[in-house]
This record gives sequence, C-alpha cells and structure tokens, in this order.
Amino acid sequence: MSIKESGHHFIAIFGGAVAGAEAASQLAKQGFRIVVFDQSKLPYGKIEDGLPKWHYKLRDKEEAHIDEKLDHENILFVPNTKLGRDIGFEEVLHWGFSAIILATGAWRDRPLPVEGIDSYIGKGLSYQNPFVYWYNHKHEPGYNGPSFYIHDNALIVGGGLASLDVVKIVMMETVQKALKTRGIEENMFSLEHGINKALEKHRLSLPELGLVGCTLCYRRRDIDMPLSPMAANTPELAEKARMVRKKY
Ligand SMILES: Cc1cc2nc3c(=O)[nH]c(=O)nc-3n(C[C@H](O)[C@H](O)[C@H](O)COP(=O)(O)OP(=O)(O)OC[C@H]3O[C@@H](n4cnc5c(N)ncnc54)[C@H](O)[C@@H]3O)c2cc1C
Repeated sequence: MSIKESGHHFIAIFGGAVAGAEAASQLAKQGFRIVVFDQSKLPYGKIEDGLPKWHYKLRDKEEAHIDEKLDHENILFVPNTKLGRDIGFEEVLHWGFSAIILATGAWRDRPLPVEGIDSYIGKGLSYQNPFVYWYNHKHEPGYNGPSFYIHDNALIVGGGLASLDVVKIVMMETVQKALKTRGIEENMFSLEHGINKALEKHRLSLPELGLVGCTLCYRRRDIDMPLSPMAANTPELAEKARMVRKKY
C-alpha cells in the first residue's frame, strides 16, 4: 500500500533536533504520521555538537526533551540519512508525503567578509561550527571528524555567545596544556569555573606559563555585544541587559 492509499497524511521532517522534534511532536499529537530523517545516528544536532561539552546538565536535559518528543507511536525516526547525500530532494517529492519540513539547523558559519579569506581555512583560520564539533567529540574512540591545533595568542572574531564559547575553549585548552608541561593536571570543569582561580591555586599567571591569551575582536562596543538572552524592550530592561554584557 502506498502512502497515499493509506488514508493518512504522512509528513517528512529532515532534522530531528530541537526544531524537528518539536514539529514532529505537535503534528503527531494531531494524528499525522511523521517520518523524521536525520543525517546523524542520534537526533540531537547542536545540543550535542554546538553546546560546549561542559554544559553537560543542560545537554542531558535538552536531549531528554528531544527523546520524549520523538517517542510517539505516530513518529518513525530514520537515522544516518542525509538529505542531499543519501536522498535527493526531488526524490522525496515523489514519495507521496503531504508536506516536507526542513529543520536542518543553522550549521553554516557566516563567512568572514574579507576577500580570499577562505583560502586560509585549515592554515590558521577556523570557523566556529567545526571547531566546537571537534572540541565536543575529539576524545571519542574512532573520532574521524575535523581536527584543530589551538595556538596561543589567537584572534577570535564576533561578539555573541558562540564566540565567548570559543574564547573559553581556546583559553582552557592552552592553559591546560601549559599546566601539564609543569606536571599539573587541571580538568575541563575546574578550568571552566575560572582560569584565574585555577592559576591562583598554583600561584601561576599566564605570562609565567609563557602564554599571552587570546583577543576577542568585535565591531561594536563591549556593552553592545549580543550576549544577554533577556528581552530589552523597556529602558530598565535595556539597562539590565547592558550590565549583563558588561559583566561578560
Ligand atoms: C556554540 C553554541 C552554543 C549554544 N548555547 C546554547 C545555550 O547555552 N542554551 C540554549 O538554549 N541554546 C544554545 N544554543 C542554541 C541551540 O543549541 C540551538 O538553537 C538549537 O539546538 C537549534 O536546534 P535546531 O533543531 O534548529 O537545529 P540543530 O540543532 O542544528 O539540528 C539540526 C538537525 O538536522 C540534522 N541535519 C542537518 N542537515 C541535515 C540533512 N541534510 N539531512 C538530514 N538531517 C540533517 C542535524 O544532524 C541535526 O540533528 C547554542 C548553539 C551554539 C551553536
């Protein structure tokens, strides 16, 4: 029996993470039959690949939400199936789905607007998406994704939360490595709670470790950085948001 002959509306969703799982859950509750395709084995998207791994509590909570949403009798999850690689869009159009939803996320980094800059990718220039992916997965057995070497004195461009995550990763990795050369082991969690605190504990400073640290470069003022998640639609809230940005 074909999809059309079944008498049900079938909907294909590509991407089963936050957006895809939510769409699947809402539609399944309304009686639609849903097929969720994801390019990965697990449907966690940026929660697994973009949220730096020290946010393990938030990650576990969000992944449990995704599991709950996809756990419905009207939802079929199909892993390891990438639209554009394993299935063509034209092909899906002919399978008889009543609708196709693309929930494939914002995986493409905004290119640095400097002519010819991309010829430096892999030669010192890295974009945030593959970099955080590497950081989150590099210790897994059999990891064969992108690979990066972190240098001291890096320049990080951008003023959002993602660029702050990159600053933290760069600082934590360089400090951890420098401490290790002195026989000192500090793990990700202690460094995440404060690099200065960890250095004070060992009565050391960045210069004493031979490190310069990294530089964050942003096109506006520090208080304009888009860091605060709060709505700033009244003068009081706008001021509060500015203070949050200043604190960072
Ligand atoms: C560095 C960083 C830090 C963040 N920090 C926070 C935070 O602290 N708190 C917070 O709430 N949010 C945070 N976010 C945002 C949050 O992670 C995202 O908003 C959310 O995960 C986006 O969900 P999504 O479903 O739209 O996309 P994604 O999570 O990107 O999911 C897209 C899914 O589609 C799949 N897919 C992609 N292409 C294809 C294809 N061609 N075929 C099949 N499947 C495909 C992917 O495998 C993935 O599972 C952060 C994001 C980043 C990048």
